[in-house]
Order: sequence, then structure tokens, then C-alpha cells
Amino acid sequence: MRLSTTSLGTIVTLTEDIIKAQKIVKQSHRIVVFSGAGISTESGIPDFRSPGGLWTKYDPSIYANYQKFLHNPEKFWEMQREVTPLLENALPNPAHFACVELENQERLLAIITQNIDYLHQRAGIKKTPIFELHGTGFRAHCVKCRYSISREELLEKIKTEPIPRCDKCGGLVKPSVVLFGEELPQEDFSSAQQAAQDCDLVIVVGSSLQVYPANCIPGIAKDVGAKIIIIDQYGTDFDAMADVVLIGMAGELFPQIVK
Ligand code: NAD
Repeated sequence: MRLSTTSLGTIVTLTEDIIKAQKIVKQSHRIVVFSGAGISTESGIPDFRSPGGLWTKYDPSIYANYQKFLHNPEKFWEMQREVTPLLENALPNPAHFACVELENQERLLAIITQNIDYLHQRAGIKKTPIFELHGTGFRAHCVKCRYSISREELLEKIKTEPIPRCDKCGGLVKPSVVLFGEELPQEDFSSAQQAAQDCDLVIVVGSSLQVYPANCIPGIAKDVGAKIIIIDQYGTDFDAMADVVLIGMAGELFPQIVK
């Protein structure tokens, strides 16, 4: 009885919030989608901080730290060998397609993503800029001579080399993702900050908003008067700044508010 009352209450609240979010989306014409790992969990790629996330298994200060990679690349590649097939096999889910829907409606100004999984591109985003604040797993480069190789070349390499090395100079090869202790790609970050200043709505999807400086983006937009919608399974520490918070699965909620 108590459970049913609670669940009925939740459904009513959720519906009101969805209607409110739909109205905000309808009134907005320069929307920024700010996505995190949570937009891709329904595509089979675990996030970092949720129960069962990658960090329950791999301590980021050991497995995802740039200095540690330089001195002990074995650990990094241990995690990569688990993540690589997941990235290979993942397909975009309805939350990624909701971004395409916004593009088709000519409302999407930019996608700012912390993800390295290329799923926004795979979903079919055509003309909207995608700023990849934490780089991409779909290219790799030598950390010594910067020689760049494709994802396909990297996949071939890791079949035979436990620690992939550059064919040109013998330096360490690393997917072009930003590890802790590395600079963000400055051009993408500047463009993302500009988009945050130019937008009228930021939809945060599946990010705990715990990683600095990427987590400054919604605040920059809020400061210039943009509205904020947060969609997250559990909620975030930044929920108080949002106009609407939708708690639940991105693949279910996001498509509902863009229709
Ligand atoms: P995070 O792990 O810190 O937070 C993920 C958030 O998504 C959590 O708040 C969680 O509640 C929410 N979430 C999980 N599944 C969800 C779902 N189905 N629907 C709605 N919400 C859901 O991730 P973050 O904020 O992106 O930051 C951590 C770092 O993780 C980023 O730097 C990113 O580069 C990296 N990362 C990327 C991928 C990827 O490319 N897919 C995967 C793992 C980690």
C-alpha cells in the first residue's frame, strides 16, 4: 500500500516535470547537450561512478593517470583491454537519437561531451559541432612524437603488442583520451565555453558533474540566463541550480522531452 502510494506519487511528479521540461525545450532554440558516461550505459558501456562502474574495479589514480601511464603503462592497458571491446560493439541508444531529433528540429547549438565513445557521431549527428572535452577513443597517438594512428591500426597493434609502441620512434602509443593530469584539448574547451555562453538551454544527460573543469559548463550557461535541465539516474550535486531535474534512465526520459 505504502509502496503503491509512493510509486503513484513519483509517477505524478515525474509527469509534471516532464511536461515542464518539454515546455522549456519547446521555447529554446540554441540548445547545448552536455553528456557524460551515463548517456552511454544503456549502450553497454559502464560509467565510472555508479555502482558496478569502472572505478569500483579500477582505481583511477592508478589506471587513468597520465604520469602513471608513462611509468607503468601495463595498468592502463589492463583496463583498456576490458574497455576496448565494449567501445567496439556499442551502438547508440534512444538518448543519443534524441540529440539527432533536436538537430533535425534545428534547435541544437552544440553537443559538449565528456565521453570518448563516438556514439553521438554514430547516432548520425551531421552538422552540429561535437566538442569532446576528454578526447576520443577512436584515434590514438604516440606520446613522444605525436604520430597519430587510427582506431583500426590500434586494434591491430594490441593484438600482438601487450604495450603498443610507435612504429616511427618507439614511444608509447595511447588512445587520444584525456587522462587525469593531462590538459583538456584547449580548442574544444574554448569552443564549449563559448557555446555555453551562447545557448538558451543546457540539457545535462548522465553526468555526475564531478569532473573539473568540464563541470563548469552548466554554470557558465546559467550565469548568462540559460535554463538547465538535468537528466540522471540518481541526481547530481548540482541539481539545485537546475530548472528541472528528471530522475531516471536517459534512454527513456530524454526522448520524451524532445518530442
Ligand atoms: P560519471 O561516471 O561520473 O557519472 C555518470 C552519471 O550518469 C552518474 O551521475 C549516474 O547516476 C548517471 N547515469 C548512469 N547511467 C545512467 C542512465 N542510464 N540514465 C541516466 N543517468 C545515468 O561520468 P561523467 O560525469 O561522464 O564523468 C566521468 C568521466 O568518465 C568522464 O571524464 C568520461 O570521459 C569518462 N567515461 C566515459 C565513458 C564513455 O565514453 N562512454 C565511459 C566511462 C567513463
